[in-house]
Amino acid sequence: MFSNSHIGIDLGTANILVYIKNKGIVLNEPSVVAIDIHTNSVLAIGNEAKDMVGKTPENIVAIRPLKDGVIADYQVTIDLLKHIMKKVNKKNGISLRKPNVVVCTPSGATSVERRAIHDAVKSFGAKQVDLIEETVAAAIGADLPVSEPTANVVVDIGGGTTEVAIISFGGVVTSRSIRVGGDQLDEDIVAFVRKKYNFLIGYRTAENIKMEIGYALVDHEDQNMDIRGRDLVTGLPKTVTLSSYEIQDAIKDSMLSILDAIRHTLENCPPELSGDIVDRGITLTGGGALLNGIQEWLSEEIFVPVHIAPNPLESVAIGTGRSLEIIQKLQKSKRLS
Ligand code: ADP
Ligand code: MG
Repeated sequence: MFSNSHIGIDLGTANILVYIKNKGIVLNEPSVVAIDIHTNSVLAIGNEAKDMVGKTPENIVAIRPLKDGVIADYQVTIDLLKHIMKKVNKKNGISLRKPNVVVCTPSGATSVERRAIHDAVKSFGAKQVDLIEETVAAAIGADLPVSEPTANVVVDIGGGTTEVAIISFGGVVTSRSIRVGGDQLDEDIVAFVRKKYNFLIGYRTAENIKMEIGYALVDHEDQNMDIRGRDLVTGLPKTVTLSSYEIQDAIKDSMLSILDAIRHTLENCPPELSGDIVDRGITLTGGGALLNGIQEWLSEEIFVPVHIAPNPLESVAIGTGRSLEIIQKLQKSKRLS
C-alpha cells in the first residue's frame, strides 16, 4: 500500500514551485501564463511563457496573474495552477496516491480566492488540501525551530511583496507586508535608465542588471555592465554602460522601504521575545535575499545577526511541503502540555 504523499505548492508572484516529500522540488517555473486574447486560450506557462514577455505579437499576452502579491487575475491563476498540476501529475503520477497538498497562498488573497485555490487543487485528486501562511512556510523551509516558544524572524523578499513576520510556537506573533519586492527594483531600474539616459530597456533586462550589478546600500567595488536598449531620442537601438553605484542609487528608496518594514516589525515585538531576536537574529528568504550585499547592509542597520536561508528561492516550497508533519507534531505537543 502507498503511504500518502505530501505535496507542497508555493504559489509565488514570480515563481511557482512544487515540492514532494522524499523527492524535493519537482517543479520550479516562473508564474507566467501566455494567452491568446482572441481565443482566450492558454498557449504556454512557466519558462516558455516568460521567454515570450515583451516579444509577442499583439494577440498574445504574457500575464503574471499574481503580480502584486495578490491575485491580480483570478481565472488565469486557476489556469496556471491546473497546468502546473497536470505537469506534475504527468511526471510523478501523484494522482494515484491521493496526496495531501499544502498550498501557500499570497498574503493578499481574499477568502473567496483562497477557497477557489483550494478547490482547484482538490479537483486534481488531492485527498486533503490545506492552506498555510507564506511566512510560516518560509520559516519552516529555512529550518527555523518554529514550533518552539522562541522568536523566529523571517523576512521573505519575493517578486511582488516583502513579508516580515515574527513566528513563535507555530504561529505568527506580528507581521507586516509591503508591496515592494524584486519587481519594484526592476521597475526602479527601468525608470532610472529612461530618465537619465533617455534609454528604454525591458523588465527582463532590468532584472538581469539587478542580479549582476545590483547592490544593497553598502560600499563595494564599482562594476560596469553594457546594456542594449532603444534610444528614445533617435528611436534606434544602442548600448549604454551602467555602473553598479548608479543602480544602487536607483533602488535606494525601495531598499529603505524594506528596511523600514523590518524595523517596524521588530519594534512591535513583545518584550519577552526581543531577547531571542538579539541572540538569534533574522533570516532572509525569497529571491531578494540573493541581492548582493544585503546581509552586510541589514546587519549594519538593525544591529542583530542576519542569516540567509540555505536555498532562499526554495524555502517557502520546502516549508509548505514539510508543514504537515510539523503542524501535526505541534498539535500533539499542544495537547500534551
Ligand atoms: P515570489 O515568491 O514572489 O515568487 P521569489 O522568492 O521567487 O518571489 O523571488 C523572485 C524575485 O527575486 C524576483 O524579483 C527576482 O528578480 C529576484 N531575484 C532572484 N535572484 C536574484 C538575485 N541573484 N539578486 C537579486 N534578486 C534576485
Ligand atoms: Mg515567495
